[in-house]
Amino acid sequence: NFRCRSAFKLLEIDDKFRLLQPGGSVVDCGAAPGAWSQVAVQRVNSAGTGEGDPAAPHGTVVGIDLMNIPPLDGAHFLCSHDVTDPVTHAKLLELLPNRQAHVILSDMAPNASGFREMDHVKLITMCFSLIDLAEKILQPGGSLVCKYWDGISARELQEKLSNVFNTVQIIKPNASRKDSSERYFLARMYRKPVK
Ligand code: SAM
Repeated sequence: NFRCRSAFKLLEIDDKFRLLQPGGSVVDCGAAPGAWSQVAVQRVNSAGTGEGDPAAPHGTVVGIDLMNIPPLDGAHFLCSHDVTDPVTHAKLLELLPNRQAHVILSDMAPNASGFREMDHVKLITMCFSLIDLAEKILQPGGSLVCKYWDGISARELQEKLSNVFNTVQIIKPNASRKDSSERYFLARMYRKPVK
């Protein structure tokens, strides 16, 4: 039983690309009400239920949202936290084993104003902040999944992602409404930028 239908989008993406492995560490950005985190907990085995394999390693799931997220076994939630805030980044580092994540998920979305272009740019700007987050917490070789609304700035986001990930692709899950501009970038094989 998932808290929200959005779970099916992540299940679909993960069934195809196998990003969430038992023992893995996942950061779920914009996690409320917690459906993606439910999927992540199952797949990385952070509640230790083993999914039929008692020897499966236990992973870590940390969810972040501006809103409250009801508690979930196997997940640690940073409620009333802004993903773009450095204070949140510092707390994340404390919660992650070896201060690193294997996967960053983002289903974040701003409150839609109804002005399509404006909402698009707002969400893309939020996605840019995930690249800063990755630099702090994502392990080399790690992956990022991030929701965006398609529009003029999508190309710029794709280019920025391509600077630090070996492969970047666009996904429109079947579970995503056909008439919405919602898309996901799947960026894999993270390379930490050399400064
Ligand atoms: N993936 C979630 C699930 O499956 O339950 C649904 C996420 S919902 C579509 C988008 C969420 O992003 C909202 O709960 C919103 O509060 C959150 N959000 C928007 N901006 C944020 C920010 N700057 N920091 C943290 N969360 C944010």
